[in-house]
Amino acid sequence: MTQLDAKIRVMVIGGGCAGLLIAQVLKKVRPVRCQTDLRLMVQAGIPCTVFEQASSIDARPRDWNFAIYWAQSPLEQCLPEDINNLLLTAQVDNHVPNAKDAIPVFHGETGEKIKEIPAPYSLRLGKKKFTRLISRGLDIQGILDSYDKPDIAHWDWMLIPTWIQEEPATLSGSAIIEDMKRRAQSFADPYKTIIQAIPDGTKAWHNRLSYWPTQPWDNLDGRVTLAGDAAHPMTFHRGQGLNNAIHDAATLLQQLLAMPEKTPEALAAAVLEYEKEVWQRGKAAVESSAQNTLMVHDWAKMADSPLLKFGTVQKVEIQQNKAEAVS
Ligand SMILES: Cc1cc2nc3c(=O)[nH]c(=O)nc-3n(C[C@H](O)[C@H](O)[C@H](O)COP(=O)(O)OP(=O)(O)OC[C@H]3O[C@@H](n4cnc5c(N)ncnc54)[C@H](O)[C@@H]3O)c2cc1C
Repeated sequence: MTQLDAKIRVMVIGGGCAGLLIAQVLKKVRPVRCQTDLRLMVQAGIPCTVFEQASSIDARPRDWNFAIYWAQSPLEQCLPEDINNLLLTAQVDNHVPNAKDAIPVFHGETGEKIKEIPAPYSLRLGKKKFTRLISRGLDIQGILDSYDKPDIAHWDWMLIPTWIQEEPATLSGSAIIEDMKRRAQSFADPYKTIIQAIPDGTKAWHNRLSYWPTQPWDNLDGRVTLAGDAAHPMTFHRGQGLNNAIHDAATLLQQLLAMPEKTPEALAAAVLEYEKEVWQRGKAAVESSAQNTLMVHDWAKMADSPLLKFGTVQKVEIQQNKAEAVS
């Protein structure tokens, strides 16, 4: 067993949330008791190095925030206690999550509140802050930085207008903000004023959203696998990508902890079991998010969209069945 134990080493490509959580999870796999080599007895976890293409968390100017709606418990399982204790510090503000948390949805032209979507105990995290926090204690080639803006006057705000467009996304430079301001002419206040107040020259991006309904992939005998957006890239309007990435890491943790021995064969079997769950859940999440994105851009269908009808829960089909049973 000593010889085989020494052969396990994991390389994570991409230091995003999924990659970092997987690296944290690998640290949790307990050392295998070994009679012949005392050094291995104190080696906790499966050795892992994360390779990130960006030279630092701030190397890319773009940041955003995302919410954890239903993956709080899996997240806690993936992280060590010291990082769990600091999770609230990765939020975008000082909000204390509570049972009454909700997402207000407003009509852009009238300003009328359409709905409050319940989001109890959700965590709204800054991507860079969260990435920095969960990279603690890991062997990462590339990421190093410091980023903190405690004064609200210096905060960055995330404004994301989205619309359906058949043509390719071609706007660049100042034309993006100009286009946002033109589109916001018909908005109610305060949205109109907020968008008109964006300083000219503010860096902005114009992207076409894409998604890929997950299918099983060739894992090269358990030596390569996928997690997070690499496994299930989805549109963001119902906020499911990170929640699913966390679920991936927690699923892998369960499989790793169930390994009867720390060998390449056992690891390959664990990876295979992990994938069975991930690709099916990923496919459902990608398709439901795509359907939701189309519906929230169509007034006739918006009220029936998964976001407005079921909120940010994980499994829409379960909620759908409940709703049909009641009606
Ligand atoms: C505006 C917006 C709002 C969102 N809101 C929510 C929300 O509220 N709730 C939610 O659950 N999800 C939300 N999401 C989705 C969420 O952000 C993603 O699902 C999540 O960040 C995916 O993490 P990841 O680690 O899989 O991918 P990424 O964060 O994209 O990380 C991948 C990493 O891999 C690196 N990389 C890529 N290729 C290579 C390479 N060849 N070599 C080395 N490194 C490489 C990249 O530099 C990157 O750092 C939102 C997304 C957006 C855009």
